[in-house]
Amino acid sequence: MENADGRDILAGLDDEQRAVALAVSGPVRVLAGAGTGKTRAITHRIAYSVHEGASDPEKTLAVTFTNRAAGEMRHRLRVLGVQGVQVRTFHSAALRQLRYFWPQLSNSIFPELMSSKAPLVARALSFSKVDSDSALVRDVSGDIEWCKSNMIDSALVAKAKRDFTIDTATFTKVLDAYEQIKKDRNLLDFEDILVLMAAAIRTRPHIESAVHAAYRWFTVDEFQDVNPLQKNLLDLWLGERDDLCVVGDPSQTIYSFTGASSQYLTQFVQQYPTATRIELVRCYRCTPEITAMANAVIHGGRDAVTLRSQRDSGAPPKVTAYADDNDEAAGVAQSIKALIGGGTPAADIAVLFRINAQSAEYETELSQAHIPIVLRGTERFFDRPEVKKAIMLLRGDAKNSALAPDSLTEHVRDVLSGTGWTPEPPRGTGAMREKWESLLALMTMAEECSDSMTLADFVAEIDLRASVEHAPGASAVTLASIHSAKGLEWPVVFLIGCSEGLLPLSYADTDDAVEEERRLAYVGISRAGRELNISWAKARTPGGKSTRSLSRFFTDLAPGVFDGTLAGIAPRHGKGSFIAGSSQGGGTRKRSGPKPCRVCGKALVTPGERTLGHCTNCPVSINESVFEQLREWRKERSTQKSVPAYIVFTDVTLTAVAEQMPTDLDGLSAIPGIGPAKLTEYGDEVLAIVAAALDI
Ligand code: ATP
Ligand code: MG
Repeated sequence: MENADGRDILAGLDDEQRAVALAVSGPVRVLAGAGTGKTRAITHRIAYSVHEGASDPEKTLAVTFTNRAAGEMRHRLRVLGVQGVQVRTFHSAALRQLRYFWPQLSNSIFPELMSSKAPLVARALSFSKVDSDSALVRDVSGDIEWCKSNMIDSALVAKAKRDFTIDTATFTKVLDAYEQIKKDRNLLDFEDILVLMAAAIRTRPHIESAVHAAYRWFTVDEFQDVNPLQKNLLDLWLGERDDLCVVGDPSQTIYSFTGASSQYLTQFVQQYPTATRIELVRCYRCTPEITAMANAVIHGGRDAVTLRSQRDSGAPPKVTAYADDNDEAAGVAQSIKALIGGGTPAADIAVLFRINAQSAEYETELSQAHIPIVLRGTERFFDRPEVKKAIMLLRGDAKNSALAPDSLTEHVRDVLSGTGWTPEPPRGTGAMREKWESLLALMTMAEECSDSMTLADFVAEIDLRASVEHAPGASAVTLASIHSAKGLEWPVVFLIGCSEGLLPLSYADTDDAVEEERRLAYVGISRAGRELNISWAKARTPGGKSTRSLSRFFTDLAPGVFDGTLAGIAPRHGKGSFIAGSSQGGGTRKRSGPKPCRVCGKALVTPGERTLGHCTNCPVSINESVFEQLREWRKERSTQKSVPAYIVFTDVTLTAVAEQMPTDLDGLSAIPGIGPAKLTEYGDEVLAIVAAALDI
């Protein structure tokens, strides 16, 4: 850490979170509900421990569930001044190790990784003389994945506690055939990476000691969804040691269909009786209205932690019924358009669904409404050909042109235009759309940076991000399955398809399967910070029979969930009025009007205007000298922290401070862009500059 001391790192945490950060050695288990700051607490714990010299970042491995979450954690660690920590998924950590040790394990070249089991499963089925169609291939692939995640080989299949798609004897043959074909073709599937790495550590003492020497401190986020194969590898990574911190929420177990079990989390203290146990209780993400709904949905099933919101009251969640799927997609698109028109940034909005097939209709409707969307997240962002090409062109331009800082966005736009970038998304989906999304992410990053960077700085920032695999996010509406939205958050969420048959999915035909669907609903609800829109459609197709009904997860909730009384808020609408029946896209009503300009009173549209609190063109006096001093101060801070200036504060935020000249923390925190963390970290210094100018 160059600048912050340990207190700075602890400052942004509540008491329980601070206890997590302070427990720097030995086993630690954190059990807490959605949005309570688990991920934040473990990130700060790593930073604090490194700062205190209690751990070595180079020997620290943090495991998260998705690549996107890993990128986010790397970024947060970087902002906290920590470098060198490995933040990976189980898969990517194991793959990296396996590649490294491969020459010691085999004389052959490293096998090719399969992106899907389906082609080989189809072959194995036909080899075993089983007639198959794509549904059978999918289900048998699921069975194979389950076996491998549970470390069940063909000898153990007969004893497995699972209802396999095909009879056990035939399935055993198919599994053997699958493994054989894979071996013959020198291929590896997803689970093989973990299987092989675990075997390497178990059977080769020199590999075991090398791995143990390389990693000493371990953290695992989302521990409720760890499967036996992952747990086995984790145990082998640790050996006899116990510097392991795990965090999770049993109510968010949504991968038990692959063999994951929250028992590893709940029984952690049996395995490690000396473990420090901490529970986080405050939900910082969601408004009381949203936590009330999350609590009601999950408690409808079984015991679970009750979320207690720390946020100001907002609008109650809204449930809207549409005539058919088409109508629902059009209604949601219309609502999103109205929100964006009212000043909500597209990146603050997500549409979440149960199965990927639900996405297509929304892609079409949102594209037709000219709303940018991101579909595939940020997976392997820096490896994408279009990104490589764009960076190459930007690098070339940075060398050849001296650029005034103001024109960064324009310049990046010019260069990207040369690679096919257009401000409007291309029609339809597929490769064109994916390429456009990548370029949009770079464009968004340029816009975020434009106030303080030259093109050369920008390219250096891209290189830095590439080195820590922190992909930029596009300013676009996210379309994601609930599974892939795990751990993430958006101010506004549209949870679509909330009808019987879709959530719970029709093939959830056992109590356990329905409970997993309930947890999925809970995860979906708790992704929303400020506004939650639940919708469903009565019929599948236009003119079709209205056979569907609202999901059981939402029908039997107390009416107080919908009018806000359960959240402790007086009803503002008639009882039950939020279960709106509409085929016209009833979700378009705005909950609170956009903030008005403090000079002319007009609604403010862009995020920049809302930070300033006035229209860009309205005359407002600014204390130029304070603005310059703030810029100087920012430069020092960003240099100390080795982060770009905009990470400390953007120009717009500094302008707002120099205009409003706040004299206390309340005044400062009223400026958008100055959240609790920044307030704690920089509040006093910024106020001191303002106070000196005001001579107070
Ligand atoms: P999930 O269960 O969905 O993974 P989580 O428990 O990991 O959630 P985080 O993502 O770490 O929660 O935090 C949720 C939100 O609350 C984030 O925006 C985070 O910055 C904010 N937050 C967490 N703790 C605090 C705090 N002490 N003060 C202010 N904001 C906080
Ligand atoms: Mg989390």
